[in-house]
Amino acid sequence: MQEKRKIERTCIACREKRPKNELERYVLSAGGKVIRDPEKDLPGRGAYLCGNEDCLKAAIKRNPFSRAFRGRADISALRAENG
Ligand SMILES: [Zn+2]
Repeated sequence: MQEKRKIERTCIACREKRPKNELERYVLSAGGKVIRDPEKDLPGRGAYLCGNEDCLKAAIKRNPFSRAFRGRADISALRAENG
Protein backbone atom coordinates (compact mmCIF):
# COMPACT_ATOMS: atom_id res chain seq x y z
CA MET A 1 0.00 0.00 0.00
CA GLN A 2 1.33 3.35 -1.02
CA GLU A 3 1.42 6.14 1.49
CA LYS A 4 -0.81 9.04 0.54
CA ARG A 5 0.98 12.30 0.12
CA LYS A 6 -0.61 15.37 1.62
CA ILE A 7 -2.19 17.62 -0.92
CA GLU A 8 -0.66 21.07 -0.69
CA ARG A 9 -2.03 24.32 -2.00
CA THR A 10 -0.63 27.82 -2.04
CA CYS A 11 -2.24 30.69 -0.17
CA ILE A 12 -2.87 33.31 -2.85
CA ALA A 13 -2.08 36.14 -0.43
CA CYS A 14 1.19 35.10 1.27
CA ARG A 15 2.17 32.42 -1.31
CA GLU A 16 2.95 29.91 1.41
CA LYS A 17 2.28 26.28 0.76
CA ARG A 18 0.13 24.47 3.27
CA PRO A 19 -1.77 21.23 3.53
CA LYS A 20 -5.18 21.63 1.95
CA ASN A 21 -7.05 21.06 5.20
CA GLU A 22 -5.41 24.14 6.74
CA LEU A 23 -6.64 26.41 4.00
CA GLU A 24 -9.92 28.13 3.25
CA ARG A 25 -11.27 27.38 -0.20
CA TYR A 26 -12.89 30.01 -2.38
CA VAL A 27 -14.59 29.48 -5.68
CA LEU A 28 -15.95 31.61 -8.47
CA SER A 29 -19.74 31.49 -8.62
CA ALA A 30 -21.69 31.49 -11.89
CA GLY A 31 -22.20 35.23 -11.56
CA GLY A 32 -18.46 35.86 -11.32
CA LYS A 33 -18.51 36.44 -7.59
CA VAL A 34 -15.87 35.00 -5.30
CA ILE A 35 -17.55 33.04 -2.53
CA ARG A 36 -16.24 31.06 0.41
CA ASP A 37 -16.57 27.31 0.18
CA PRO A 38 -16.52 26.06 3.78
CA GLU A 39 -17.34 22.47 2.82
CA LYS A 40 -14.72 22.49 0.05
CA ASP A 41 -17.08 20.72 -2.31
CA LEU A 42 -18.32 23.36 -4.70
CA PRO A 43 -17.55 22.71 -8.35
CA GLY A 44 -15.12 24.79 -10.33
CA ARG A 45 -11.68 26.15 -9.90
CA GLY A 46 -10.71 26.93 -6.33
CA ALA A 47 -8.39 29.49 -4.81
CA TYR A 48 -7.00 29.12 -1.34
CA LEU A 49 -6.23 31.38 1.58
CA CYS A 50 -4.54 30.26 4.76
CA GLY A 51 -6.30 30.89 8.06
CA ASN A 52 -4.26 34.03 8.66
CA GLU A 53 -6.49 37.06 9.13
CA ASP A 54 -3.92 39.30 7.48
CA CYS A 55 -4.11 37.19 4.36
CA LEU A 56 -7.86 37.61 4.20
CA LYS A 57 -7.47 41.35 4.65
CA ALA A 58 -4.78 41.50 1.98
CA ALA A 59 -6.91 39.44 -0.36
CA ILE A 60 -9.85 41.82 0.05
CA LYS A 61 -7.58 44.79 -0.51
CA ARG A 62 -5.45 43.55 -3.39
CA ASN A 63 -7.78 40.96 -4.89
CA PRO A 64 -5.29 38.25 -5.82
CA PHE A 65 -8.37 36.27 -6.86
CA SER A 66 -8.40 38.06 -10.19
CA ARG A 67 -5.06 36.45 -10.97
CA ALA A 68 -6.05 33.09 -9.52
CA PHE A 69 -9.23 33.08 -11.58
CA ARG A 70 -7.63 34.76 -14.60
CA GLY A 71 -9.25 38.12 -14.82
CA ARG A 72 -12.76 38.11 -13.52
CA ALA A 73 -13.30 38.00 -9.80
CA ASP A 74 -15.90 40.06 -8.01
CA ILE A 75 -15.02 40.12 -4.32
CA SER A 76 -17.91 42.33 -3.18
CA ALA A 77 -19.44 39.39 -1.32
CA LEU A 78 -16.22 38.89 0.63
CA ARG A 79 -15.96 42.59 1.30
CA ALA A 80 -19.50 42.63 2.67
CA GLU A 81 -18.79 39.59 4.81
CA ASN A 82 -15.49 40.77 6.22
CA GLY A 83 -15.47 44.52 5.85
ZN1 LIG B 1 -1.60 33.26 3.68
